[in-house]
Amino acid sequence: MGRIHVLPEHVANKIAAGEVVERPASVVKELLENSLDAGATRIKINIEAGGKKLIQITDNGCGMVRDDAMLAFERHATSKIRDAEDLLSVATLGFRGEALPSIASVSRLRLETCAAGPGAEASGTIIEINGGRMARVEEAGLPEGTSITVRDLFFNTPARKKFLKSESTELSHIASLVTHYALAHPEKHFELHSATHAMLVAPPVAGYSERVYQVFGKETLDQLIAVAAMQQLEHVGLPQPPPWRRKEEADEDAACSAPGEMRVHGFVSKPEIQKLNRNSIFVFVNGRLIRDRLVQHGLTEAYRNIIPPTVFPVVLLFLELPPGEVDVNVHPAKTEVRFRQPTLMHDFARDTVRAALMKARPVPQFTTEIRAHATASAGLTPGAREWELPSNLASASAAPERLSQESANGGGFALQAPALPPVSARFQFEGGSAVEAKAAIPVDRGMESHFAQAIPETIPDNGCAPALDAASDEEPTLAALSTLRPLGQIRNSFILAVNEDGLWIVDQHVAHERVLFERILKQRAAQKVESQRLLMPIVLELSPAQQAVFAEIAEELQHNGFEAEPFGARSVAVKVAPAGVDAAAGERMLHELLDQISREEQSLNLEKIRGRIAASIACHAAIKVNMPLEQNKMEWLLTELAKTDHPMSCPHGRPVVLRYSVMDIQRAFKRI
Ligand code: ADP
Ligand code: MG
Repeated sequence: MGRIHVLPEHVANKIAAGEVVERPASVVKELLENSLDAGATRIKINIEAGGKKLIQITDNGCGMVRDDAMLAFERHATSKIRDAEDLLSVATLGFRGEALPSIASVSRLRLETCAAGPGAEASGTIIEINGGRMARVEEAGLPEGTSITVRDLFFNTPARKKFLKSESTELSHIASLVTHYALAHPEKHFELHSATHAMLVAPPVAGYSERVYQVFGKETLDQLIAVAAMQQLEHVGLPQPPPWRRKEEADEDAACSAPGEMRVHGFVSKPEIQKLNRNSIFVFVNGRLIRDRLVQHGLTEAYRNIIPPTVFPVVLLFLELPPGEVDVNVHPAKTEVRFRQPTLMHDFARDTVRAALMKARPVPQFTTEIRAHATASAGLTPGAREWELPSNLASASAAPERLSQESANGGGFALQAPALPPVSARFQFEGGSAVEAKAAIPVDRGMESHFAQAIPETIPDNGCAPALDAASDEEPTLAALSTLRPLGQIRNSFILAVNEDGLWIVDQHVAHERVLFERILKQRAAQKVESQRLLMPIVLELSPAQQAVFAEIAEELQHNGFEAEPFGARSVAVKVAPAGVDAAAGERMLHELLDQISREEQSLNLEKIRGRIAASIACHAAIKVNMPLEQNKMEWLLTELAKTDHPMSCPHGRPVVLRYSVMDIQRAFKRI
C-alpha cells in the first residue's frame, strides 16, 4: 500500500459526509476492511462485552511505518486515493480516511504496527490515543502487521453509549458481520473470539462452498443452490472520467477503455427455505457488503411465484464489476453504492438467480418437513409453519395442521418444522474438532434450526435385519415425479405415492393449484382463457378501496374469464367466471383479491396483477382437501404436476410434494 497523505480540502469535501462509528459492529467493520485492504491473510478479532469494553483486531497485512502510523489518525488521511477522479474507480474497501480518527476520538485506542518488506524499519511503532488525544508514541520490536485495540467505546460520549443495545445483541451483529466477510474471502484465515469462547475459527479453504460448509455445515450447504455467471459489458457506464484523463489513459493503456465484464457468483436458497425478513440476504459488490434496493428487487423478481411475496430467501451473492461501474462514495459507512448501469445490474442479478432456480428445480426433501421420531414428539412446534404463511393461506391450511398435530402426538410422522433449538452454530476449529459455539448469530438461526437433526447420530448395529440394496440419498429429479404410482389418500387430503426413489406425499390442493396456475398464465398469454356463464350472477358490494382496485383491474379480470357489469352505485354483477370457479368461490375470490391488492404498499404492475389473479383463480378452482379422489384422478393429477415448470411449490410458495427417500427409510429403521 502506498504512503498515507492528507487529502486536499476540495477532495475531502467530495466524500460522502457522516459519522461512521455508530456501534461496536461498525468499528469492527472499518478495522476489518482496513486489514483486508492491507492485504492481510490472517485476521484475528477479540471481543469483550459485546465490543463495548474491548475490540481487538490483529492482522498480518502490510503494516505502517512510524510516520504513516501517526498520519493515519488525521482526518482525511488515506493511502487509498489521491484526487477526486480516483473516487470514480475505488478498488479498495476504504478511501475516506476517516475511520481511524473517528474511532480514536470516542475510545481508548492502542495501535501496534510494523511495516512489512525490505526497506521497512527494523522495529515497529506503538501509538496510544485517548478520546482523540495522543498519549504515547514509541518504538518497539513487533511482528509484521497491525494490531488495533479499542477499549471503552463511547466512554467520553455517554449519550451515544446509552443507545447501544445489550452485549449479546452487539456481539451477534459483530459475529454476523465477521462471518460474512469470512464467507467473502475463503482464501483467508479468520478468527473471532469472545471473552468466553471461540466463535469462529476459519482457516483458509479452497473455495466458497468449502467456506459455507466450514462455517454453517453440510445441511445448510445442501439447502443452497450455487449461482455463477459472467456477462460482457457493452459500454462503459456514465459518468466517465473527465476528457483529459480519458485521453491520457487511452494512450497509456488501451485496455482501460474496454468496458470489461460483470461477474456474479454465490448461493441462493431453495424455495422451501423461507425467511420472514431480509436478514439472510447478503450482497457483496466488489468485496464490499452492501444494502441495495436494486439488487434486492432483482432477487424478489427471481423468486416471484416460487416463494410468496411476503417471505424472503437466503442469499449470498458476490457481484464483481469494473471499479468504474460502481460509485461507492454514496454513504459514509459505505454500505450503499450506485451502479452506473443500474438496469443492467438488476437484470443480470435477476436472470442469473432465476436461471439457477429453474435449473435446480428441486423437490423438497421429505426429511426437511418430516422427521422419523423413534422416541418423542419433543422438538415439534405445532403451528410453526402456520405463522410463516399469509393469514389467508394459514386458515386454508388449518386442516392439514390439525392432522399433523394428531400424528405428532401419536409419535409417528409429523408434518411440522422442528422447534427452534438453543441458539447455536457449529464452527470448525483449527485442530479439526467441531465445537458448539453458543454465539447468537441471528441471521443463521433459522437455517440451523431448520435443519436440526432429529435422527440419532450413532449408527446402530444392523442386527437381524437383512440387507437392502444400498440406497442413494441423491436429490430426486423432476423425472421422478412422472414415475409416481398413487397408493391412496390420507384423510382425503394427501396423496400417498411410491416409486423407486421412495415414498412421496402430495398435497392434492396445492398440487392442483400449481397445475392450474401455470395453465391459466399460459391461456392468458394466448388469450384463450376458459370461462363459464353462472346460473345466477354474483352481486358484489364493494368498499371504496375495493371499488378503486376493481376499476384498476377490471380489464385484466375480463381477460381472465370474468364478465362483470355495474349494478347500482357500489355493486357489480358478475355473470361469467373462469372455468372451475363456481359462484360462491368466485365471490370469495374477488373479495380476497381486491382486499389483497388494496393493501399492497406499492402499486402493482400488470404482470404482478396477472400473477395474483392467476394464483387466486387457481386457488379457488383447485381440488380441495377433504375430498376423496379416485385412482385415475390421482394419476391424472400426478402426471399433470410432473409437466409443470415448478412442481415443487405452489404459487404461494408452500411445498407441493414431500419425499421420504429410501435412505431416510433405511435410517429410520436403523439399517444404516
Ligand atoms: P481509509 O481506510 O479510508 O483510507 P482509515 O482511517 O480507515 O481510512 O485508515 C487510514 C489509513 O491507515 C489507511 O489508508 C491505511 O493506509 C492505514 N491503515 C489503516 N489500517 C491499517 C492496517 N490494518 N494495516 C495497514 N495500514 C492500515
Ligand atoms: Mg478504512
